[in-house]
Amino acid sequence: MQVIRALSVPALLLAAGCAGGGGDGAKPPSWAPSFMVAKGVNATLLSTLKAGAYEPSSLAVGEEKDLAQHRGDALGFVRSAALEQYLNDTRQKVLAASGKTGVPGRVIILANPGFEAFSSPDGHVYLAMGLLESLESADEVAAIIAHEISHVLLKHHSSDLLGDVQRKGQALYELGVGAKTALAGERGVSKRDSRNMTNVQLATDATDKLVLPAWSRGQEREADLLGVDLLVESRSAGPAMISVLEKLQAWETANKEAEDAFSERLKQASERNINEAVGVVYQRLVDSVSVKHPKTSERIDDTAQYFERHYGTRSAVEPQAGPWKAVRGRSEVAQVLENYKRAFAARRLLEQGKPQEAYGAAKAAAIGRTAADAYPNWVLAHSAASLGRQGEAIEALRRAVSSTEPVPLVYEDLIFAYERSGSIPVALQWTDRASNVFGGAARFKPHKIRLLRKAGRIAEAQTLSVDCALNGTSELKRACQEANQTPAGRAQR
Ligand SMILES: [Zn+2]
Repeated sequence: MQVIRALSVPALLLAAGCAGGGGDGAKPPSWAPSFMVAKGVNATLLSTLKAGAYEPSSLAVGEEKDLAQHRGDALGFVRSAALEQYLNDTRQKVLAASGKTGVPGRVIILANPGFEAFSSPDGHVYLAMGLLESLESADEVAAIIAHEISHVLLKHHSSDLLGDVQRKGQALYELGVGAKTALAGERGVSKRDSRNMTNVQLATDATDKLVLPAWSRGQEREADLLGVDLLVESRSAGPAMISVLEKLQAWETANKEAEDAFSERLKQASERNINEAVGVVYQRLVDSVSVKHPKTSERIDDTAQYFERHYGTRSAVEPQAGPWKAVRGRSEVAQVLENYKRAFAARRLLEQGKPQEAYGAAKAAAIGRTAADAYPNWVLAHSAASLGRQGEAIEALRRAVSSTEPVPLVYEDLIFAYERSGSIPVALQWTDRASNVFGGAARFKPHKIRLLRKAGRIAEAQTLSVDCALNGTSELKRACQEANQTPAGRAQR
């Protein structure tokens, strides 16, 4: 009997699968998930899933709280009723094939240009706008949702993973605050100023890239394969999982240069060692960037082999481009998609040092249905500021804070914009408003302490520092302590 060993050449693996080499009694390949080992290599992942009521994850925090936590990770959510309806209908269809009932959560669109998706212990599936733009059929949409839902059904979320996401979030927060605070104290463009600008840019770039959880190789594989089962059982084209992975691979290739440049900038920043605290944060970011993800080429081969083995003899289901094209073509949806495309282009132009072009693209992005959205207005604000149009930058940020999906980062930028223009009392007011909007979020405390000192309100700054020292995390305490060293300004009210 032929025994499949851990073959390092995927093509061979595929050939072995097609030849039916993994018959009863054969040893499963070393990558096989543990329950496949128990059930034998011919069992689908779906057949190992117990039908019935879904048991909530012990790490679930509640659907609303989960949304609130992720809303602030980067630049918020994109709202489009028709598009969300379509995505949630697809989610229902995929879930129905799992045999599980009462799975919580819904699909949320992230204002993120990457090819990114993730799910949470509360069952929410978060899809980046950049990913949605590149999907071409209803089956590809179903594939990405099936993959993410599989992480939920297989209970892949662990406390380690969530801790990692939280640590990254904290590191990014410190990085941004450290760099912006240094910037707030500077007048005019000095050498240090431009270095701090680079740091602010790094922090915001990193926000998009690093908040996502890094699954292990085995978990990704399981989600790919259970995803294939769910696609087939919900009468979608199973190979759509492969075409989505091929798109991911193409995206990785196309963006390799930019991603490498980003890692390099992070590394240089960590070596520059601006101050000890920021140096540590950079180091952590460098570490998380260099985490090795499973090779996409291997995922493609494994998925192809699995599909061939379990569903190769079934009659092929043709991918349907129509329904997805129809929803994208609805004027409401088309405008949102187009405007976010412009906003992402504007951000790239800004990174490339082309503020005038970035400004043009951002202006065209913040109109119509996205006129008050956080992302387009945030890019517009940064483009305007690069052209020296501070007033316009503040206007754009003020529109962005009126967004239906408020983002802490935008409030922070608005506070800094007022601070830099010398309007300390207005900056203070916005610090209080931000604190109210985000349920007294601790991240605004260091800003308030710094601004109170600049305003000459030393006693109040002192009281808040004591409160921060008693109730904050160690990182927050340090930020508050640093803020409390701000030179005292003349009293002004
Ligand atoms: Zn995954």
